[in-house]
Amino acid sequence: MTYSPGLPVFSSIDVPHFKTQMQDLLSNNQAAVARILAENKNYTWENLIHPLNDLDDSLERLWSPLSHLHSVMDSKELRECYEACLPLLSDYNSEMGHNLALYKAIQSIDVHSLDASQQKILEDILRDFQLSGVALSSKDKARFEKIQKELAELTNQFENNVLDATQAFSLHLKDDSQLKGLPQHALDTAAAYAKTKKLPGYVLTLEAPCYLAVMTYAKDAELRKTLYQAYVTRASDQSADKGFDNTKLMYDILRLRDEKARLLGFPNYAALSLATKMAESTDGVLSFLYDLVKRASLQAHTEFKALSQFASQTKLTNALEPWDVAYVSEKKRESLYGLSQEALRAYFPLYRVMQGIFSIIQQLYGMTMQEISGVDVWHPDVRCYCVVDETNQLRGYIYTDLFARPNKHGGAWMDSMQSRRVLSNQTIQPPIATLTCNFAKSSSDKPAMLSHDEVLTLFHELGHCLHHILTQVDYLDAAGLNGVEWDAVELPSQFFENWAWNQEALDLLSSHVETGESLPKALYEALLASKNFQSAMYLLRQMEFSLFDFIVHKDFNVKDPEWVSKVLKEIRTQTAVIPIVPYNRFQHSFTHIFGGGYAAGYYSYIWAEVLSCDAFSRFEEEGILNPTTGRDFLHCILEKGGSKKAAQTFRDFRGRDAKIDALLKQHGIM
Ligand SMILES: [Zn+2]
Repeated sequence: MTYSPGLPVFSSIDVPHFKTQMQDLLSNNQAAVARILAENKNYTWENLIHPLNDLDDSLERLWSPLSHLHSVMDSKELRECYEACLPLLSDYNSEMGHNLALYKAIQSIDVHSLDASQQKILEDILRDFQLSGVALSSKDKARFEKIQKELAELTNQFENNVLDATQAFSLHLKDDSQLKGLPQHALDTAAAYAKTKKLPGYVLTLEAPCYLAVMTYAKDAELRKTLYQAYVTRASDQSADKGFDNTKLMYDILRLRDEKARLLGFPNYAALSLATKMAESTDGVLSFLYDLVKRASLQAHTEFKALSQFASQTKLTNALEPWDVAYVSEKKRESLYGLSQEALRAYFPLYRVMQGIFSIIQQLYGMTMQEISGVDVWHPDVRCYCVVDETNQLRGYIYTDLFARPNKHGGAWMDSMQSRRVLSNQTIQPPIATLTCNFAKSSSDKPAMLSHDEVLTLFHELGHCLHHILTQVDYLDAAGLNGVEWDAVELPSQFFENWAWNQEALDLLSSHVETGESLPKALYEALLASKNFQSAMYLLRQMEFSLFDFIVHKDFNVKDPEWVSKVLKEIRTQTAVIPIVPYNRFQHSFTHIFGGGYAAGYYSYIWAEVLSCDAFSRFEEEGILNPTTGRDFLHCILEKGGSKKAAQTFRDFRGRDAKIDALLKQHGIM
């Protein structure tokens, strides 16, 4: 077999004509489906599923690059184009999902003629057909389609409001008198930003690197309060700019999701969400979450009490207000462990971290990452790597885009640009992943340096990328991330973070930017000791997000427009340890569940962490860079994608089902 690389050419994307191209491709695909159905009587994998994959593949390869640019190079033109295409896509998907003749044709394929992966894929396809309403009456079908289209628009609007509200805020300071305590890189960024606005002094924004730096290090409590208030009221009725208020959007999104679930015969949206997940029941998820709340609660309150005492003993603040928590915590962490995230940055210049990660990937999985030059990219900061295995076979490509800049969506994420599959001419189409972060860029004379948290982020997202590109599944629907149950998707990413906590691995990852010294043992020990600093408070906060997400989707009350905030209030009586200010509207910028795909699925982070901690504990037993254990993880989990159930791939690797113990132990809660 030979490989056909064919990387996307971003510079050739013709935005003004993209919508027409998209329309042409979609109508060609629709005509092709009709032709495939008419040409055959006895349907098989080869004459039906394989050609359908060709169509899905051509759509992914056209749409993903444009959709990616919309996230990382947002402009009026791109946003308009992206938004104009969403209804086309939604129409197309619902038409495919409602094609009864196609559903029946797939149903008629003889399962005995298929291998195990193909059988799993077929089951998933038929389930997805049912979830897209194929069996509905024509009246319900029409309503269902309308809901889908509206939801696509509303969730996109929700995200845009958050992005716009974030960018609408900036705070100009003429000098640094209010900026005492801020690390130099944050001052440099704020000064550089002021320059681009042709202003003297500094401009602060709500973009993550700036916001977090102020909350963690600014001595000036008033400044922290100003930014905190702006941040937690983004896109809400409480924000200074009312133009981006998400209140009604949240209600409408939940109302439509609830109606959709009922149309499909589910009691609520949470139950519908679980149809594609590893967790078996809504009650099971809730008791899993409440069990963790119960186990973490006492320790979380003890941690907060200790923090309050520290604040008053050190006279850092009078009362411990929400905008003081990160600041006082950092001071306490420093006093306990003599450790600041900032001091650690000097040990983690980006180039060294990347070298270290590549070396770990090489030792565990036998994969080499090589940067390739001359690739068409969307921004000069972007790098493209090809991944080659021990037999010198190309496994796939990863694009990295690591630095924050205006018009780039916040946070960190990976995405698929193309999936692995065997083409009709028996060549392999290599998978392509993108890795996006929002790290602070280096100042002119220094290389970019990461905090340890950012090193963890990099491992996390790279873990997702490896899952996508190391797959050996030949069929599109189960290659890489495709077809993996949602609540198991975070297993390879959270799993990979563990290496950033291990001394042997840290020796490969760290090199002081001036002395070249790797992370000293004393600092490492302090880092490790600080790992579980306030871990119960952290866990409880995750439970608050997870419970809020799950309950608003499980028990939605259509009659009460205030209901979303009531649910949050009720959950907080069990989960909150930090005092809540009445204007806090965190839910209005909770894009994971109202914008992205984590609706009634936020719990997956902690669910997957149970799996990842338990999987990692085998490396603790057998050696952190043990190549045999690494190859086992590669063959049992990373290469299998969605070709087997996640519970089974886990069992293949660990020899038993997952246990919760490793998670609690890793958080120091047992
Ligand atoms: Zn993730």
